Amino acid sequence: MNYFPVFFDLSQQKVLVVGGGEVALRKVELLIRSGASVTVVAPDIHPELEHHAAGGQIEVGLREFVAEDLTGVRLVIVATSHRALNRWIANLSESRSIPVNVVDDREASRFIVPAIVDRDPVLVAVGTSGTSPVLARRLRERLEALIPKRIGEAARWLQSLRATAQSQLRDIAARRRFFEAVVDGPAMRRFIDGDAQGAGRLARQLLSASANTPRPAGAVTLVGAGPGDPELLTLKALRALQDADVILHDRLVSCAVLDMARRDAQRICVGKAAGSVGSTQAHINQLLIEHALAGRRVVRLKGGDPFIFGRGGEELEALAAARIDFSVVPGITAAAGCAAYAGIPLTHRDHAHSVSFVTGHADSSGKQPDWRMLCAPGHTAVFYMGLSRIEYIAGKLLEHGAAAQLPAAIIVHGTLPQQRVIVATLATLADAAARAALESPALLVVGEVAALHESLAWFGDPTTHHASQSA
Ligand code: SAH
Repeated sequence: MNYFPVFFDLSQQKVLVVGGGEVALRKVELLIRSGASVTVVAPDIHPELEHHAAGGQIEVGLREFVAEDLTGVRLVIVATSHRALNRWIANLSESRSIPVNVVDDREASRFIVPAIVDRDPVLVAVGTSGTSPVLARRLRERLEALIPKRIGEAARWLQSLRATAQSQLRDIAARRRFFEAVVDGPAMRRFIDGDAQGAGRLARQLLSASANTPRPAGAVTLVGAGPGDPELLTLKALRALQDADVILHDRLVSCAVLDMARRDAQRICVGKAAGSVGSTQAHINQLLIEHALAGRRVVRLKGGDPFIFGRGGEELEALAAARIDFSVVPGITAAAGCAAYAGIPLTHRDHAHSVSFVTGHADSSGKQPDWRMLCAPGHTAVFYMGLSRIEYIAGKLLEHGAAAQLPAAIIVHGTLPQQRVIVATLATLADAAARAALESPALLVVGEVAALHESLAWFGDPTTHHASQSA
C-alpha cells in the first residue's frame, strides 16, 4: 500500500491553494465545505473564485506565489499550469513538512485527493493510488448507485439514538448489538425508504426488546429477482441480498443473481421445478418463520415479481400470523422482462390496449380463464407456466373465436444469453413448439403485438432477427 487513507479535520485550518483556474476552483469549493480557512494565491482568478472572495469565504492574493505564503499553513494544493513552478512550490512545502498535492502530478505530491461519494456526514473515498483516475471515477459511480441517497440523514438519525441507547443499555456489548440490529435490520431500511416515523418506532421496539432480552428480532424481505439477467435486479433487491443472513430461493432464480448476494449468507433452494415435488408451501412458510424467529435477516428470493404467480401473498399471510416483520421488494415480472428482450411491446397504440397475465397451469379446481376476453381484438394475453399446455391453450382460444392467424410468441429463457423466441400463429403454434423442442422456463404471448418481434428484435443472435430485411 503506497498511501495511508485518512479523513482530515480542516475546520478553521489554513489551507493554501496556488493557482486560480477551473481546477483550483473545484478544490477550493470542496475545501470551503470542509470548513477550512482557504487562501488562494494567483495573478488572475476564475470569476467564481472572485465571487467566493467577495462573499468572505476565501482570502485571495492577486499576485505570484512567494515562499512566505507557506507560513502557518496546514495543507497546500498547487494547481497552476506551470509544471516547473508547481514542483518548486511542492519542494518548498516538503522542506517545511507541509503536506502538498500538485494536481495531476502524483510524483510531486505528498498526498492525493480521492474520488468521493458525498452523503454528508457519510463520505466514501475511492483511490487507485494514482494508477487510473478513470477507474476511480467509474468505481465511484457504482458506489453512488449502491449507497442509499438518505445514508447521510440515516447517520445523523443513528447519532440521535445514541443518548437514549446509552441511558437504557448499560452494557457496551448490548449497545453495539442494538445498533447492529438497527443498521442491519428493518429499522434502517424503513429510514432509508423515507419512513422516519416507522424507523423510530422499530428502533424503540428494538431498544426495549434489547433492554429485556439480548436477542435481536429477525425479519423477512420478500424480494423479486427479475426474470434472469442479474442487471435487472432493483437497487433495493441488491441491498437486501447483501444484507441477508439467509436466502431462501426458488430454482428459477439464476446463479448470476445469487452471485450478487453476501458471500457468507446461507443459501437454501426451496425451488419447485415444474413437475417436481420440491418443498411444500407449508414447509417454506415454516422455514421462513423459524429463521426469522432465530433473529436472522431472511430474504425470500423469487423469480420475477413476488406478487405475480409467486405465492408471495400466502407467505406474507403466514408471516403476519406469526407476527414477524416483513417487507416486499418488487421485481421485473417475466412478462415485462421477456417482452422487452424479445422486442414485443405488450401494448401498442395500433395493436393492443390491454394486457392480461394468465396462468397456463391446470387449476385443480377446474376454474377456467375467460378465454373470449383473452383473445378479444386489441388484447394481449401473456401465459405463465403454460409450456406443457401450449396445444390446449391454442385450442381453447380458437374454440372461443380467435383467428387462426392471430400471432403468438414463445420466449424461452427470456433476458438470458440463451434466450430463444419463436413466433407463430395460433394455428401453427403447437407444431412450432414441438419442432423447437422447448424447455422451461417459457412464456407465451398471444396477440397482434407478437408479430412485432420480426421488426423490433434486438437482443441475442442478430442473424435470427429482422429476417424479412436480410432476406
Ligand atoms: N413470479 C414470476 C413468475 C413465476 S411462475 C414472475 O413474476 O415472473 C414461473 C413462470 O414464469 C415460468 O413457468 C415461465 O412461464 C415464466 N418465466 C419466468 N422467468 C422466465 C424467463 N426468464 N423466460 C421465460 N419465462 C419465464
